[in-house]
Amino acid sequence: MPYELTLDSPLSFVRGVGETRSQQFAKRGVRTVGDLLTFYPRAYEDRGNVLPLRDCADGGIHAVEVVCTSLPVSGRARSGLEYFRFCAEDDTGMLTVTVFNRRFLLSQIVVGRRYRLYGRISMGLFGAEMSSPEVELVIPGKPLEAVLPVYPLSEGLTRNFVRKIVKNCLSLCDQLPELLPAELREKYGLLPRGEAVRRLHEPKDLEETVQAKRTVAFAELLSFQLALRRMRHAKDGAASPPLPPPEEGGSFLERLPFPLTGAQAQAIREIFADFEKPVPMTRLVQGDVGSGKTVVAAAAIERCVQNGKQAVLLAPTEILAEQHFGKLTEWFDPADARIALLTSAVPKKWKETVKKSLAAGEVDVLVGTHAVLQEDVHFASLGLVVTDEQHRFGVRQRASLLERGEKTGLRPHMLVLSATPIPRSLSLILYGDLDVTLLRELPPGRQPIKTMVLLPKDRNRIYASIRRQIAQGGQAYIICPLVGDDADGEPAESEDCKAAESYFAELRNGAFSDIPMGLLHGKMSPSRKAEVMRAFAAGETKVLVATTVVEVGVDVPNANVMLIENAERFGLSQLHQLRGRIGRGTRASFCVLLNSSGGPCERLDVLANSSDGFQIAEEDLKQRGPGDFFGDRQSGEFALRAASLADLPLVKQTAEAVGAVLEKLGEPEYRALSDEADAIVRRAGDGKTIN
Ligand code: ADP
Ligand code: MG
Repeated sequence: MPYELTLDSPLSFVRGVGETRSQQFAKRGVRTVGDLLTFYPRAYEDRGNVLPLRDCADGGIHAVEVVCTSLPVSGRARSGLEYFRFCAEDDTGMLTVTVFNRRFLLSQIVVGRRYRLYGRISMGLFGAEMSSPEVELVIPGKPLEAVLPVYPLSEGLTRNFVRKIVKNCLSLCDQLPELLPAELREKYGLLPRGEAVRRLHEPKDLEETVQAKRTVAFAELLSFQLALRRMRHAKDGAASPPLPPPEEGGSFLERLPFPLTGAQAQAIREIFADFEKPVPMTRLVQGDVGSGKTVVAAAAIERCVQNGKQAVLLAPTEILAEQHFGKLTEWFDPADARIALLTSAVPKKWKETVKKSLAAGEVDVLVGTHAVLQEDVHFASLGLVVTDEQHRFGVRQRASLLERGEKTGLRPHMLVLSATPIPRSLSLILYGDLDVTLLRELPPGRQPIKTMVLLPKDRNRIYASIRRQIAQGGQAYIICPLVGDDADGEPAESEDCKAAESYFAELRNGAFSDIPMGLLHGKMSPSRKAEVMRAFAAGETKVLVATTVVEVGVDVPNANVMLIENAERFGLSQLHQLRGRIGRGTRASFCVLLNSSGGPCERLDVLANSSDGFQIAEEDLKQRGPGDFFGDRQSGEFALRAASLADLPLVKQTAEAVGAVLEKLGEPEYRALSDEADAIVRRAGDGKTIN
């Protein structure tokens, strides 16, 4: 039955895609032919650049053309993997090729035939070696493709399969709606969309991909920003309650055991100045870990409450919400502010009571997790919304909270705290017109954290120094990348990767058998988590084995040692966040980044040499994509498929184009772009956020 494929056709209509395959594609968000066309390669294999064996660099990824000189011999490795091995050569040298787990290739390897191999070359004891390269038979008169796209894979989908299916659909490229009107394309030197997309999937050479990438990246950044503008409340015309200084009554700031840093005092002044105006404040306070953002938030909250308005403080995790709750109850006089905690750990009955009190105006400050947002929480008179570590929240969620204030006719002020220093390009895109306050100063007396990159062979030495630190009254975090061996949703791991649960057991029975330890990971019940955290904060446990749940905000000043296992698996900003858990008190602090990759890891040296979060964040953005930066590659909102936020010039160009485009969105040529922005808004709406 011949039927025409359209962009909207489900993928199962495409030849070669059955039910299983289409489900595997769906996991990647690819459901229709149109989705597939915008499922861009993440890289390219430059197989056309064939090098003589002699010129290949040890450890480099190269294409070579060789003739097979020995019959393949098969065997089984100690790990159980099947392999076969054969020898080959070109005019300049010899090569041993080992192919694992691809028996079907065996019959295709024939002595005397010529093959193009693509993969990593290592110079071993017996000459050049290649392990599991891509193998293609060279047939005279039938040129092989020079550049092959590399698609992001998901379970069950091989590269070659994705390539084949994409090829089957490429003729539909021209049906993709043109997002960028001719005037924009001309102004910024961009291609028609169909042409750009075709080139990305099937480039003649690498050169061709450059302008193509720029084109789709431009369109993506532009529609992304348009979408954000739609989700964000238009500032114009909205009114907020002014929150002037009270006639009488002091502030908790006067009772703090420490003086504010200059940066904190300045931030508070800026917030208070905003508060005097009857327009909504939208201010981002960006401060490196440990710069003391909580005090700044508390000052804003206090001012709000002094004006008889309610304030809400949102944290991304329960642990952090509880910590904030603890701080506020310690700082504020209960006679001045009634504070309530609302997280999913709070018993249902108590939750109902809290909600009732909120609606009746009997609670002044609500501290909670984003669970608060999902439920039917009503405020009597909301004056201020503070979100801590805001990038973990959806833009949508934030807007929904602001709307709750609007029932009173007034919009609450908004204060965003961000500990992950956000590079300028990113804050431009994410926040656009937000006012930014930087806290580039740490409280005095902080000991710089000494950071070292060490190897697994150093482990006993590391354990010994942890014991020493504990004997001197310190405490240690040990961070592992995984929860347990069977953690679902996690990528398959080899035994070299420390899983928190088994590592905890190992340490308790071994190196730290006489030291009280705690275990903390995201899969534990909220009450268990809280108890573990409490015990560590109180110094009852000395070592806390944890996953990255401690990444954000956890504040135990007495902890001064951190060992991060498999540090090579983490992003730079994430490591910097983790490291920020120590160096908070007066003890000298040590952070050990254990590199188990078996090779050098340059990224880690960046951390050993810098403690400037802003610099590290820029570096991170350069090295990894923005999805990684947010620690959530799949998030509907931040899933940029083509663009990189590290491409600052392009980000700037698009940010600059947004203004002009907004004025023209009603015109027919801008229709597709406008629809695209709508689609992003919808995706963000049902996109899951983490935690
Ligand atoms: P972050 O900016 O990472 O959220 P916190 O608000 O958790 O930092 O503050 C880190 C620690 O520093 C807390 O224990 C806090 O009480 C303390 N702190 C905050 N401001 C100061 C200051 N001006 N002087 C000394 N310690 C401070
Ligand atoms: Mg914090």
